[in-house]
Amino acid sequence: MNIIFLGGPGAGKGTQAENASEKLKIPAISTGVILREEAASGSERGIKAKSYMDSGALVPDEIIIDIIKQRVAKPDCAGGFILDGFPRTVPQAEYLEAAGINIDLVIDIDVSDERIIARMGGRRSCPNCGASYHVDYKPSRDKKSCDVCSTELITRDDDRPEVVLKRLKTYHEQTAPLKQFYVSKGKLKTVIGQEEVADTTRLTFEVINNFKQSGN
Ligand code: AMP
Repeated sequence: MNIIFLGGPGAGKGTQAENASEKLKIPAISTGVILREEAASGSERGIKAKSYMDSGALVPDEIIIDIIKQRVAKPDCAGGFILDGFPRTVPQAEYLEAAGINIDLVIDIDVSDERIIARMGGRRSCPNCGASYHVDYKPSRDKKSCDVCSTELITRDDDRPEVVLKRLKTYHEQTAPLKQFYVSKGKLKTVIGQEEVADTTRLTFEVINNFKQSGN
């Protein structure tokens, strides 16, 4: 089963993609995590990508498509995969079609801009393994270091308030049109993001289970 998670910055698509990955036993691929790893490694592609990310813009399609092309070709994707943060533009979605990469289900995690802005201030990330937390909704066990690798948590450069506003603008202009793209293909299901992560997870699994039971 191949699933896409759509949603604005901080809507919780990464958390839901991880939950679904664990339950369905297929990899969750986050283009944001891959780009941050590349940036941290100091590669030419990573440094170029970081300048776009830190300004709240999207990384150019050709860079990101190249990354996805290589990643979904790996053997662990043979039994299905979850895309978190890709596609983010209509040309990226068209690439998946042109490459013959079938998508079964697109889940849009819908959260208002006001809630996103309020939430992003509390988001914390692990600079080492990319795990994501929130001081109120998803705190790490000791509230300051990563549960997975014990690295001290940070606020991502692109989670600064002024960048969040730019990312929301970018989302509405370039990513939100994907909803109509997938509605027209009968693949889009919407989950209203809830205050509690567990409630959003429950609604997300209802959508996945309904899809499976519908004989797909
Ligand atoms: P995320 O961790 O998914 O919020 O992504 C962080 C940043 O990485 C985004 O704000 C973009 O600058 C960049 N990015 C991630 N995925 C994509 C994509 N599919 N297309 C273009 N830029 C992306």
